[in-house]
Amino acid sequence: MTKRKILIFGATGYLGRYMVQASLTLGHPTYAYTRPLNQSGGIGRDAKFETLQDFKARGVSIVEGELDDREKLVGILRQVDIVISALPVPQYLDQLKIINVVKEESHIERFIPSEFGNEADRSTALPPFQAILDKKKKIRRAIEAAGIPYTYVSANSLAKYFIHYFLFQGENCDKEVTIYGSGETKAVWNYEEDIAMYTIRAAIDSRTLNKTLICRPLRNIASQLDIITSWEKKAGKTLNKIHILEENVIRLIETLLLEMSIPMAILHSIFIRGDQLCFELKQDDLEASTLYADYRYTSIDELLDITLVNPPEVKIASFV
Ligand code: NAP
Repeated sequence: MTKRKILIFGATGYLGRYMVQASLTLGHPTYAYTRPLNQSGGIGRDAKFETLQDFKARGVSIVEGELDDREKLVGILRQVDIVISALPVPQYLDQLKIINVVKEESHIERFIPSEFGNEADRSTALPPFQAILDKKKKIRRAIEAAGIPYTYVSANSLAKYFIHYFLFQGENCDKEVTIYGSGETKAVWNYEEDIAMYTIRAAIDSRTLNKTLICRPLRNIASQLDIITSWEKKAGKTLNKIHILEENVIRLIETLLLEMSIPMAILHSIFIRGDQLCFELKQDDLEASTLYADYRYTSIDELLDITLVNPPEVKIASFV
């Protein structure tokens, strides 16, 4: 496989670390653009320091800088071939700063913006989540207007993240579980490691140039109840199921402060409305597990087995 120099923004973050790992696993010279250590975001200073030490030990080239530092951005972009952003939601529009530099650097072969969720151009949601989808669309349109070669990755739900959210949160998580709506709506649960591997492969694949990669492997389609029932069998216990009816979820979205209403609107979109499966894949759509059929992805069932032994460590602070 051709080796390309891959630069990752948000590399020290939740998904970014999987991206770095996948890039290294596939043997690409890997670069991380990171803010100075004193700005550690949700991860915390010590964890960020350790992450950067680990990156250095594994040969990642670290470049320290702010997104506003145009000179630094130009300097690093001139050294790389591919740019992947795994910046968090609040920084989506900051990606315009990256786009403004990438568009002047015509050697950049591919830019993958931070998305990794529902297909922004083919789904709509209630206002707090729609505002996020709109930002993704704004970034997409800016990339296209600038003529930057791109791939968009629709990862759907990051599975470890949501397994943690449903089954490992709160004092009573070994006794009860909250179900949004009926719990029967199907969604797509993809292991983070697989999403990162698909992303890195797509980044250097001519078939994904200026296309959207949709991650919808058949063995990863499941409802909340499918996951919970399967978990109960594997763990040998029965959880008390607390349903929040759709009308109450909507009421919460309308009345909670924005910070809290965003997660509710995301849960509503994915697990009540079923927005991840609201459109049929067409013949010219690129589905990740079909395009990379040689790659053995981890099914949601296998991931539940893994999390039974190794409970997921996820910082939920970055829910949006
Ligand atoms: P994150 O961990 O919250 O942050 C990623 C990194 O961004 C941080 O480690 C930090 O790196 C950098 N960063 C944070 N604040 C910043 C700021 N103010 N300015 C510049 N850089 C900043 O992000 P994440 O949760 O992994 O999210 C990454 C992407 O994955 C997002 O698009 C998110 O929507 C998506 N995601 C999807 C799901 C899903 O289920 N579909 C779940 C989780 C995340 P440095 O300090 O090193 O600069």
